[in-house]
Amino acid sequence: MSTARATDAPHATHALGAADGARVGAAERYLRMLTENAGPRMLLDVRYRTEECGLARIFLPATSNVAASTIESIGSRTDVYVGCALRVRRRGTRDDIAPTALLWADCDTPESLAALAAFAFKPTMIVASGSPAHTHAYWTLTHPLGTDELESANRRLATALGADPRCADAARILRPPGSWNFKHTPPRPVELLEYTSARYRPAELFAALPLEPARPAADRSPPALRREDDPLQQIKPTHYIRLLTGKAPGRDGKIECPFHDDNTPSLHVYDTPEQGWACFGCKTPDGRPRGGDIYTFASLLWLTGQSRDVPLRGRDFTDLRARLEDTFRITRDRGPDRTHRELADDTFPGLEL
Ligand SMILES: [Zn+2]
Repeated sequence: MSTARATDAPHATHALGAADGARVGAAERYLRMLTENAGPRMLLDVRYRTEECGLARIFLPATSNVAASTIESIGSRTDVYVGCALRVRRRGTRDDIAPTALLWADCDTPESLAALAAFAFKPTMIVASGSPAHTHAYWTLTHPLGTDELESANRRLATALGADPRCADAARILRPPGSWNFKHTPPRPVELLEYTSARYRPAELFAALPLEPARPAADRSPPALRREDDPLQQIKPTHYIRLLTGKAPGRDGKIECPFHDDNTPSLHVYDTPEQGWACFGCKTPDGRPRGGDIYTFASLLWLTGQSRDVPLRGRDFTDLRARLEDTFRITRDRGPDRTHRELADDTFPGLEL
């Protein structure tokens, strides 16, 4: 196992201030909204940014009474995100989503904020994410929805409000209030702006929403993750290539290419996920050097035939992503007490390899 500490950024001290008590309160109120219908084994999916491994993950029991302070503690030193829907097992895919009585929308433009303010159904909670205009609105429902229905309702909400449609997926993770947004220097607080006890009957809310535009059957693939939201695309190439091939790049940043007969290490492993990797000794069928990101690397490694060379879509892509998520699993099968102790010790779990 290799461990990675959460961002031990010098600016993290900005995050610790006199208002800490109030901030735990915000995280607590937020979790109360997320977990109010929680069954005994349901889990909060919590991710946090680490310097080395992108987003690490822990699952906390939804009924844990230290979840809020754990999240607040992590969130005082690094970006932290929580799955809006609870999980039924220690995995974060669409198949692991619990029935959920909560809808959400990411209003990220002045126009969508205006639409939100004018919307007849006042959100149960409004959270400012710390980036300009980015506001997360939540609506508590009287009855839980299944995953398909939940995503459909979120998409219709996004359409009604002009909100970001990519945040409609059931596996979405968002910043909890009481944490800090470290995209900015100094970090900005993620703030609980409004909280009410409003809850809505799904049928009433749905009646007020525009219908979803019909989508062609071929487009039933899950919505693509934004790069910054995709934990797999946060992993550094040196790390994923070492894990997937067992080879560590040399001082020149190269390894022997697993995709062609390579005597001299010629596959370049770059520093950032955006740069990815490239091998100039390999050619795609249309004559370009092979290269790309974690997905292209894994599909070349794991798939056969022409599926290696076409961008994967739909089920093929979902399967590849699931396999990568399993491979880079950041799950820790431990209870909240242990988590809390580790936090108190100032040690953070990273990827467990
Ligand atoms: Zn090659």
